[in-house]
Amino acid sequence: MKSWQDECAVFGIWNHPEASRMTYLGLYALQHRGQEASGIVSLYERQHLEHKGFGLVHDVFQESDLDRLQGHASVGHNRYSTTGENERFNIQPLKAVLYNGPVSLAHNGNIVNSAPLRKQLQSKGSIFQGTNDTEILLHLVARNESNDLIECVKQEVGKLDGAFSMVMLGNDKMIGIRDPYGFRPLVLGKLVHETGTAWVLASETCAFDLIGAEFVREINPGEIFWCDKDGAYTTHFDQKKEHRPCVFEYVYFARPDSKVFGRSVYDVRKELGRQLARENKVEADIVIPVPDSGVPSALGYSEASGIPFELGIIRNHYVGRTFIEPKQNIRNFGVKIKLNPQFDVLKGKSVVVVDDSIVRGTTSKKIIGLIRQFGAREVHLRIAAPPTVSPCFYGVDTPQKTDLIAANNSLEEIRKFIGADSLAYVSQEGLIKASQSETTKTFCAACFTGEYPTKLYS
Ligand code: AMP
Repeated sequence: MKSWQDECAVFGIWNHPEASRMTYLGLYALQHRGQEASGIVSLYERQHLEHKGFGLVHDVFQESDLDRLQGHASVGHNRYSTTGENERFNIQPLKAVLYNGPVSLAHNGNIVNSAPLRKQLQSKGSIFQGTNDTEILLHLVARNESNDLIECVKQEVGKLDGAFSMVMLGNDKMIGIRDPYGFRPLVLGKLVHETGTAWVLASETCAFDLIGAEFVREINPGEIFWCDKDGAYTTHFDQKKEHRPCVFEYVYFARPDSKVFGRSVYDVRKELGRQLARENKVEADIVIPVPDSGVPSALGYSEASGIPFELGIIRNHYVGRTFIEPKQNIRNFGVKIKLNPQFDVLKGKSVVVVDDSIVRGTTSKKIIGLIRQFGAREVHLRIAAPPTVSPCFYGVDTPQKTDLIAANNSLEEIRKFIGADSLAYVSQEGLIKASQSETTKTFCAACFTGEYPTKLYS
């Protein structure tokens, strides 16, 4: 059911003399949403020029690549893959040359009915190039008989079920599409430059900050936004679904300096920390975060509990995915290369450790072992989210249920496994309360509740 294409970032810009360079910067700011591959397509004289590759944005694009990606419009994508299909074709944006010209598509999310749709299309003769779910929309659009790209998208996109925040480039327009539930974020911005004003689409507002664009608004669930040489337009393809933005964007996934679903991610994380302290009091000497993801919540916890905040663990930011291990055994080597506890801060202390989530439990176990090794007297783990009990089918990489520690163990069993003196999570109600805003009242919290807003297809 789950395709490999998850946890991605999309970016697009229309009407900028350095469109591909702006896209490069946007993808740079959105690197946290996907580190495995990256791609940019630019529109130049009604043709699509592309450059894609495996690796981080700064590895994939050289100055000469961006020079070659000429044009005043461009779209880009960062990919985080979960299963091993490292085919080059799966790197986005996906480009297709249709009857009326080229179309390139970048997608964040996961289409849950991709298997039946793919079968239907194949039975009608569609030849798929890759194994990703995104290509389905290109086939649907290609088969539509309308001559107008917007009309094609509007008629076809409602056939997709699941999570999709997409940016599409045609031969004379850029398009932003968001699924009717609004699972993943997609924001619209404006960038005033020397020769005009550019429209910008991005997964998160942190991309706007880097290029100096101004946040205009979110693309609404079920909306199709587009812009061309004459202006910007909007239409809706489905406004009937209850909005279910992903609460895990607040918990872990989005950057804290982004505004997502109408709220600052940093503010929500801090409030989750306060909520955690209100719900789960403990006597302790210091509060420390697991860096970096636990920092805002630990600040909130400290504020609400009155327990002083300290940096008890320092993170090395230059650790790659692999490193050469020593031949002789060093205790907790793997975690120590990334996280180094401070003996002088921890020695003899009763410590509240705040992290954003427990998935398999292996990270928490190692961190707690390390904190004890560096002198802590007591370790109380506080998690700024409820227990993760169900996998995500809407674009966040989570292991299957059998590997989720909270799906298969009681609180006490988890506490024993990770070796904490006490363990507590934020309640489900507390999570929703901390995340709600004037405009966003309902969420998808399926990873914490097991209640999925859509049908799940096999
Ligand atoms: P685990 O050892 O599996 O319990 O990993 C938990 C850690 O992984 C937490 O500290 C989170 O910061 C991080 N994490 C949680 N969800 C994800 C995710 N979907 N992708 C990558 N890392 C995650």
